[in-house]
Amino acid sequence: LSERTAGFTDSVIRRMTRISSQYGAVNLSQGFPDFEPPKEILNRLKEVTEGDFHQYSITWGAQNFREALAEKQSGPMGHEIDPDKEIVVTCGSTEAMMAAMMTVANPGDKVIVFSPFYENYGADALLSGAEPIYVPLHPPLFHFDRDELEAAFQKQPKALILCNPSNPCGKVFTLEELTFIAELAIKYDVYVIADEVYEHIVYEPHRHTYIASLPGMWERTISCSSLSKTYSITGWRLGYIIASPEIIDVARKVHDFLTVGAAAPLQEAVIPGLKFGPDYYESLRQKYTKKRELFLNGLDDIGLAHTVPEGAYYVLMDIGEFHYDSDLEFCEVLAREVGVGAVPGSSFFKEPVNHLIRFHFAKKDATLKEALDRLSQIR
Ligand code: GLN
Repeated sequence: LSERTAGFTDSVIRRMTRISSQYGAVNLSQGFPDFEPPKEILNRLKEVTEGDFHQYSITWGAQNFREALAEKQSGPMGHEIDPDKEIVVTCGSTEAMMAAMMTVANPGDKVIVFSPFYENYGADALLSGAEPIYVPLHPPLFHFDRDELEAAFQKQPKALILCNPSNPCGKVFTLEELTFIAELAIKYDVYVIADEVYEHIVYEPHRHTYIASLPGMWERTISCSSLSKTYSITGWRLGYIIASPEIIDVARKVHDFLTVGAAAPLQEAVIPGLKFGPDYYESLRQKYTKKRELFLNGLDDIGLAHTVPEGAYYVLMDIGEFHYDSDLEFCEVLAREVGVGAVPGSSFFKEPVNHLIRFHFAKKDATLKEALDRLSQIR
């Protein structure tokens, strides 16, 4: 069988969901909501089932979806996005990221990945034949060292992967940091593949900036995102790539042969969401701000040490006091004995990190309270 698949395991994030359901644990491992998507989207979904949306859409996405997306993103991304030339609609940002890697990388090319990183990037790099170069984000604030980053750029990478806001550490890159990354990308002629699926989940006083919007970056950024987190529809598998026509031309070919296209009825049903005004995104931000407070305060009350995310909906909790050899084993015991699902931190770090586990808090308040109640029995 294929040698390139020997370099990675199945996803531990998805495996922990299966383990959680096996033990009836409250699943705070794989990050997805247990609350409903917006009514406007659900209502449109009902209408769509009666309509003429059951066959393929255009390979790179339905026209009205791309138009609505271009309208939503052009302002914040600082570029008048052409829906006919600068967008590919994908099956989630999982496909978007994979297609982006295959669009830029030749076998043997190097790709810079910050560590900790979202689990998929390692496998994405290996599947596209590329070799990751890891650059550490240093706790507690997950800053990168400018010299370490420049040293990675000097190894002639093809691209840098930027997850902003970052899963799992919750970092929101500052304008100053993004400007530094952009200057290096231009100086060393490197693409940036941005994963911005948590673009609307950012806590005060932090602000998310699209790296594509920085001077000189439109031409070299492949912006990937998803509708999963913004509209609470992770099961719909809708994502997209936004980039220059030259990049999109290639990304469309990759996408076409990977999947042909994203689900046509679901593209149609989500359009009312893409047309929401700023109030929707503000209320989403407030909703997650309250959940963050509830969950972090709960961990504090139990006396469990954790990170404080600036964006996204994940918390890394320190399990050093429990003296386990393996964080994977700790998570298995936690799911079985305490009844709460988490992801072992080692899934996200290149460094040998064994003392962290990741929870997410994209759950109803009642679910979070139940998880905290169970966690209070952890000792
Ligand atoms: N991004 C989510 C997480 O990290 C889940 C993504 C997925 O499983 N496709 O848990």
